[in-house]
Formats: sequence, C-alpha cells, structure tokens
Amino acid sequence: MRSHVSGNSILFRCSDGKPIPIPATFQLYFLGFCRSVRAASISAMSATRKVLIIDDDADQRQLLGELLRLENWEVTEADDGNAGLDIIRAQRPDVVLCDLLMPRGNGFLVCRKVREDLALRQTRIIVTSGRDYESDRLAAREAGADEYLVKPIEPKRLFEVITRLTVDVKPAATSVFGAQLPAGGPTRVRFWGVRGSIPTPGPATVAFGGNTTCVEVRAGGEIIILDGGTGLRMLGRQLLEEFGDQRLNLTMLLSHTHWDHIQGLPFFQPIYKSDCRLRILGFEGARNGLVHVLTSQMESPYFPVPFAELPGNVQIEELKDMEFRVGALRVRAHFANHPGICVGYRIFTEDGSVAFFPDNEPHTRVHNPSAQSAGAGTAAFDYAAAQENKFVEFLRGVDVLILDSQFDAQEYEQHIGWGHGCVDYAVAVAIKAGVKRLVLFHHDPDHDDARVDELLAHAHRLVAGSKSTLEVEAAREGRVIELARMGK
Ligand SMILES: [Zn+2]
Ligand SMILES: [Zn+2]
Repeated sequence: MRSHVSGNSILFRCSDGKPIPIPATFQLYFLGFCRSVRAASISAMSATRKVLIIDDDADQRQLLGELLRLENWEVTEADDGNAGLDIIRAQRPDVVLCDLLMPRGNGFLVCRKVREDLALRQTRIIVTSGRDYESDRLAAREAGADEYLVKPIEPKRLFEVITRLTVDVKPAATSVFGAQLPAGGPTRVRFWGVRGSIPTPGPATVAFGGNTTCVEVRAGGEIIILDGGTGLRMLGRQLLEEFGDQRLNLTMLLSHTHWDHIQGLPFFQPIYKSDCRLRILGFEGARNGLVHVLTSQMESPYFPVPFAELPGNVQIEELKDMEFRVGALRVRAHFANHPGICVGYRIFTEDGSVAFFPDNEPHTRVHNPSAQSAGAGTAAFDYAAAQENKFVEFLRGVDVLILDSQFDAQEYEQHIGWGHGCVDYAVAVAIKAGVKRLVLFHHDPDHDDARVDELLAHAHRLVAGSKSTLEVEAAREGRVIELARMGK
C-alpha cells in the first residue's frame, strides 16, 4: 500500500493502484499528523525500530502500518492474539500495538503472556480499543500494557506515546547505581520480621515481634533483604529515614512466594520512589513465573496501586544458577524441603557467612514418613539421609544460621509434611554442620513470647547436653547481629 498527501486530500492506494476507502475522520487525523509530527522531535526513532500491529480489523492494521512505515518503522502485522504472540517471541519488536477484542487471544492475554516472559521485558505494549471503559484501562495496565489508546487513534497522540515509551526506556540500573554502602563496614544482620505464616500483633508477642519474615544483611557495600514479609514495611521506613534523598540500591533474595514472605512488598515505601532501585532475585514459582506471582498481589482486587504504576525501578529476575553474586558478595542457594519451589541462601562476606532457611522441614521425615520406622538400609531412608547430608554440608561452618524452628518436637509430630521444622532438629543440624550461631526462626503464630522463651531454653539444654559450643538465640524483631564482633 502507498499513501500520498497533497493539499487537503489524502489517498491510500494498493500496490495495484486501486484507491482504498479511508474514513474521513481518519483522513483529518492523518493530515494533522503529517503537518505537525515531522516538526516534532521524533529523532529518537531509527530505522531499526520494529513494531508489531495485532488487530483483527485489516483496515486498522493497514492504516497504522502505513503511518509507522512513513516514520521508518519496520512493521509486522498479525490478525489474532496467538499469531501475534508467536511473532513477538520470534522477532522481539520494540513496540506492540495490540487490539483488545480479538479472536484467538484477546489483548489482555497477549499483555500477560508478554509480561511473563522475562526475555521480552523491553517490549512496550500499547493496547488499542474502540471502547473507553475505565475498567478496561485498569485491567490492561494490570495485564502489563504500557499505554491504552482509544480508536480512532490520533496519529500525533500515537507518536507522542511511542516516542515517550521508546525513548524513556529505563537504563540498565546496574550501570547507574553502584553499591549502596562503602565496602569494608562490618557485616550486620538485622531482623525486621521473624514470625511464620501470618502476622501476629498483640501484647503476647511484643517481645519477639509479630511481623512475618524479613531480614536485612549489610555487607560488602550491599544491602540485601532476605524475603519481603510484613517486616519489610518498617525496613522501608528506616531506609528512607537513614538515606534521605540518596539513591537507594537494594537487592532482595526471595526464598519463596508464600504470603508470609512477600506481603510486605506493596507497603515497602522505596518502590514508589524512582531513585530507589530494588532488584528482586528468586526462583521460578511452581505454577507461574516470579514476575506474575509478585505483581499479581498488587492487582485491583487485592491492592489499589498496580505494579505497572511503579516508576520502573523494581526489577524482578528469576535465578537459574545456584551460585551467583550480589555486587562483590558470593551467594549460594540450596533447595529447601518445603512445598513448591523454596530455597535458602548462604551469603559469603569477609566477616564470615550468613545462611537463611526460613521454611524447611527435616528431609528424613518427609520423603517418607515411615522411613524412620522402616529404619536405615531401606531405600527411602537412605535417600532422605543423603538429602539431609547435602543440607548439612551446605551449612558447614556457617557463622549465623537463620533456620525454621516453628514447632517443638511434639508439635512437629502433628505437622509432618507441612514444610516446617522443629527446635530439636534445628539444633541437631547446626551442631552437625559446625555452625557458630543458630537463630531460631519463623516462630509459630500460636506461640506467644513465653512459649518462644521455653523453646529457646529447650535449645540451650540440648546444646549443653551435647557439649557443643553452638550459640543459640530466638529471632527477635529489631535484633542486630554484627559478625565482626563474633570473636573474629
Ligand atoms: Zn513461611
Ligand atoms: Zn512457606
């Protein structure tokens, strides 16, 4: 198709020379565009930019395609959502113009699929629709659309949006932000949330605290946040108070995405500040990708501010390797024994190492509950014992081990297969692995302060009986452990 503009008329012709009927309203838009947009600053667009138009209306595809080709965009077209998704994955266009109501894959679905694919995170999606319902706009945003344009689309508006979206691509944060803290400071572990399963505020839990899992580790110039339970809210306040207007550069290592490990994220104030960068690292969820799982808790039925409204400063990355670096720090991951995909981490610092396994059940009981009664020598028991040995070796010589100790031994017998451990097991593993300090963690929501004190006293008795030098404490909100002061 070719177009020709002269005077006040506009003519689209097919390659065989036949004129194409164009609605008068669109012709006016198009003329307005031709006279103004060339003068506008669209220099950021280059000939290498690729756009995909997905629309079941052939006229719409043709009109938008012609407009974009005039500005040197390489245009591809698809007439339904599924075909569009295939092209997006194969060609990775810079921009996708995607109709909302289409057969074989509507626009919401296309947005969701694109946003679930981390390889497509630079792809900008503009949803186009003949309807202007606020609920559609919101749903498109939540699905991952960058913009929503109502048809007929004014060319000037289209190019304004495309220019903004393509010029405004956030630079790779790593090149902009360095480490947060001066390297060389002591390694510090601070507990912001120590409770398992659900927050438990109230007078019975004030000593140890009622917020769910969140631990901060400062080492090697980095601020690493271990899980984003409800304790994360107070950490956010503290960071903004401490660093004022400075840029923040934070890394979160997620053990898994159960509620008690992610619910603080929407209330973490730094994510609403464009100069605060949060990189969230974790492993893929069992049913959906990490991006989907984390962002869906901010969708409208659950939360008023969708993830897409954040200023583009939160980067969610699925880890593939069990060993990686955060800045200069080496980190190793190990799969925990817990429902779904759940890991623990060991962070190596110059003062020693910190291991974090907030949710973990003894292998020897879960792989086969009857394995113990069956006894050593059975295949099930030996397999579980081998897994246990790997866990112990992973923890060998750790300075601070934060480990799931939700139950006492009797309670645990009633909760085999729930994915949590008990104090007796935690102490035994820590002693076996030569751990220096064990922190009992993920306190049961039904355990009040007195009960946690009892469990800690029990742990101390176990250690005394074993003649081990292991130090044990029960995790408490606000507690700071400084590795450099631990006899090093
Ligand atoms: Zn948990
Ligand atoms: Zn869990």
